[in-house]
Amino acid sequence: MLDNLGASLKDAVKKLAGRTVIDRAAVDELVRDLQRALLSADVNVKLVMQLSQAIKQRALDEEPPKGMGAREHVLRIVYQELVHLMGTPGTVTLEPQTILMAGLQGSGKTTTTAKLARFYQRKGLRVGVICADTFRPGAYDQLKTLCDRISIPCYGDPYETDALKIVREGLPRFRKVYEVIIIDTQGRHALEDHLIEEIININEISHADHRWLVIDAALGQQASEQARRFHEAIGIDGVLVTKMDGTAKGGGALSAVAETQSGIAFIGSGETIEDLERFNPDGFISRLLGMGDLKALVERVEEAISAEDVDVNAMLKGKFTLRDMYGQLETVNRMGPLKQVMSMLPLGGMQIPDDVYDITSTKMARYKVIMDSMTPSELDDPSIIGSSRIQRIARGAGVPPEDVRELIKYYKTMQRALKGMRGMGGKFNMQRMMKKFGRTP
Ligand code: GDP
Ligand code: MG
Repeated sequence: MLDNLGASLKDAVKKLAGRTVIDRAAVDELVRDLQRALLSADVNVKLVMQLSQAIKQRALDEEPPKGMGAREHVLRIVYQELVHLMGTPGTVTLEPQTILMAGLQGSGKTTTTAKLARFYQRKGLRVGVICADTFRPGAYDQLKTLCDRISIPCYGDPYETDALKIVREGLPRFRKVYEVIIIDTQGRHALEDHLIEEIININEISHADHRWLVIDAALGQQASEQARRFHEAIGIDGVLVTKMDGTAKGGGALSAVAETQSGIAFIGSGETIEDLERFNPDGFISRLLGMGDLKALVERVEEAISAEDVDVNAMLKGKFTLRDMYGQLETVNRMGPLKQVMSMLPLGGMQIPDDVYDITSTKMARYKVIMDSMTPSELDDPSIIGSSRIQRIARGAGVPPEDVRELIKYYKTMQRALKGMRGMGGKFNMQRMMKKFGRTP
């Protein structure tokens, strides 16, 4: 998906990473590379110019956050501005709801209706689908066949010519039984008045909670025109961009839709029923920039630490003491926000508890004071710290005992997270990562 755009963005970023000095010329070159990449993905010129301006200005005016080098500062700005270009994603809830699907013929409405039904079904909701396309021959059979495969009931009548009648009769019946009801509608080749009129009427009688627009990514920046027209008619509150797998113009379509503020809810990237994913600008841009790449992490880590700083090997083997934790937190602080560093690790969807990220420099300073009141054996083996030791440590550090407990709790959360990472060992190249750290496992 978006292989070309991804490759050229990665190249641009790599070029910057290879520069010895990050000066105005380096930023200019980076911006030129980004422009080329985005324009060839059919992103609108005006949007590209806005993004270029923002990157240049921020790169030169903003001070890098404490502990962040100029290179990382610029990369972070590029990342943020690209995420910004993708807009706010459409809201998707798991409540009972009726969803009206709109879009031109061939955009992928019927296919996406079935994909969505699958999405909600997997979330444990009872889903029913209504075929209100009375225009395209075989529309009901097409939807029914897709739905049968996933055991989703499909209401419709291939001989009925009045789409409104189908909705009027089918909806009350389905609402009694199903939690999520998706209405597939007809599309025409172009935005004809008749099509718009019908969708307005269906919207009125169905009282749909969501009006979602299906748009073919191959439209590129032209997508904004469609999004606008449908929005004027029925108030689109989410867009599903389909066929991201088959076009180089996906970036253009996404940014054009984002500009209309309709909010992209899902993207479709293939013909099978599973080829649908929630749209998340952060994850999407990270992937395009290759930030999920271990290599990036390792290189970044190498810049920030020497092998002596952290004994990764021992940590991953399970020996993770309070001393290690402190060293680790200090190192991570030098690399940038912990969450960002962790997001670069290919953890295969492993969930890191939010508490782990919730560590500020004020907190770290407090932890340091508390640890200074601990004995060497307590630092090496925190499991020996019982309530009487907690009282003593708290007194010594001049803090309430709750703070000591909090520190120990934080330590345990991190230890668990590391255990989880160890469990992932086979999935990403731990071997290589450790070699990079200058130690053999
Ligand atoms: P509708 O006229 O809007 O209902 O569009 P359809 O659902 O009938 O889809 C039109 C064509 O696009 C079909 O051949 C689908 O298989 C194909 N299609 C839909 N979504 C995707 C997608 O995400 N990727 C690819 N490659 N093809 C898709
Ligand atoms: Mg259809």
